[in-house]
Amino acid sequence: MALLDILIEGDPRLRQKAHKIRHVDDSLRELAADMFVTMVEAPGVGLAAPQVGVLRRMIWVHVPADYHESGDPELSLALVNPEIVRARGRVLGYEGCLSIPGWTGEVPRAEVVTVKAVGLDNKPLRIKAHGWGARVLQHEIDHLDGILFIDRVEDKSTIVEVPEEEQTEGPLEP
Ligand code: ZN
Repeated sequence: MALLDILIEGDPRLRQKAHKIRHVDDSLRELAADMFVTMVEAPGVGLAAPQVGVLRRMIWVHVPADYHESGDPELSLALVNPEIVRARGRVLGYEGCLSIPGWTGEVPRAEVVTVKAVGLDNKPLRIKAHGWGARVLQHEIDHLDGILFIDRVEDKSTIVEVPEEEQTEGPLEP
């Protein structure tokens, strides 16, 4: 396993649409393993393949149980070709991104999402998430379409600098 370099905003690859994956093979599973250690090391609770320069539709979501005392269950898995099939509610929350180091902003997201995807074993799966998990899923799936969280900030005055030690991928505690 290897740590991968994370692209920083300004790199054109972060603005491209990633390609659909036809079949999960060993090389993709190896990429997933490398992305996992890169995400944990960063640290982050999610990572999308385009952030490591691979324009393919794969993401990691890695939210520990009871994250920020939310009471939510753990959500940790790699998703291939993830697609939001249902979304409801709207909540505001601060997010950070490993590709935009040092900044946060308040992003509106759906409160609950249902996501259809394929697992690393090529089997279809469907997950329903709310809270932090739902936010991370939406943030990471956006990366597959070249969308960054700052694009979704409605009140630009909420974009502020954060200390480096608080930098992460996904939701930030306000
Ligand atoms: Zn991000």
